[in-house]
Amino acid sequence: MDQRSQQQSCQAEHHEWGEGFQEVFRKQSGFTRFKKKNRSDVKAYFPKNNRTDWTIERHRLKIPTLGFVRLKEKGYIPMGSMVKSGTVSMKAGRYYVSVLIEAEEKPYDVPEGNGIGIDLGIKDFAVVSTMENPFANINKTKSVRDLGKRLKREQRRLSRKYESLNVRNKETKGEATRQNIHKQTIKVQKLHQRLSCIRENHVNQVIRKVIRQKPRFITIEDLNVMGMMKNRHLAKAVQSQNFHSFRLKLAGKCRRNGIELRIADRWYPSSRLCSECGSIRKDLKLSDRTYRCDACGLVIDRDRNASINLSRYGLAA
Ligand SMILES: [Zn+2]
Repeated sequence: MDQRSQQQSCQAEHHEWGEGFQEVFRKQSGFTRFKKKNRSDVKAYFPKNNRTDWTIERHRLKIPTLGFVRLKEKGYIPMGSMVKSGTVSMKAGRYYVSVLIEAEEKPYDVPEGNGIGIDLGIKDFAVVSTMENPFANINKTKSVRDLGKRLKREQRRLSRKYESLNVRNKETKGEATRQNIHKQTIKVQKLHQRLSCIRENHVNQVIRKVIRQKPRFITIEDLNVMGMMKNRHLAKAVQSQNFHSFRLKLAGKCRRNGIELRIADRWYPSSRLCSECGSIRKDLKLSDRTYRCDACGLVIDRDRNASINLSRYGLAA
């Protein structure tokens, strides 16, 4: 069976950890990088040097030089697995540990379901040809929009704090607000983190549901040529959908489950083709949400039509 390296991450119990870290700072100069408190993502890499390094137990693991550290999220790292190396990182005031382990590739059943076409978009996150309901765009939900607003507000507060610090420094050499700036920075980072976790989780959920259908192949559009990417006004909306991460993760899952991932080339008119009779509409605009075929009279949701076409990509020219 194939050996495969995989990355497993989970969050470490950070309360008990702050102390441990400070001790390390004092003893070893190599860790001073961690002292840059305001950077949002700091990392330290630890190879396995000793036999007991990176020992994994249910609720704790042994990190070289730091010793045993309790885990806040348990069960993500398979017990008894061989760790080759690991990385400790800090993000938005929390500590994370990520390890590279050697594991046996799980065997999979040869997928026999129908091929699937997936159309990614702004209105909905994804329309899957074999599923009736599209996957929603999570950025349009109230909770995510509210979080975004809160983030903006806190970012403004942070920049105001910087401004007032400059004023103060001209008058006295006051250090008093540095702490407040740091506190506010963490606050902003935490909101960022929460948003990105929600978005990434959504991506994971969609992939899980699609893979569960065990299709023989999945076809998606080449992301670089998606019409929306070229549209400046939509660039931000596209970015916050994490399409890139979707494609990367989908590719990995497909590989591990024996599903062929097809990427439709840039000349494939997935939106303009009629999924019923195969004629092409040349005058379809990005704003046309419904596809109407002049030849056969088909009326269908634009994205659903595209997803059906993608599922047939490469079958008939
Ligand atoms: Zn037609």
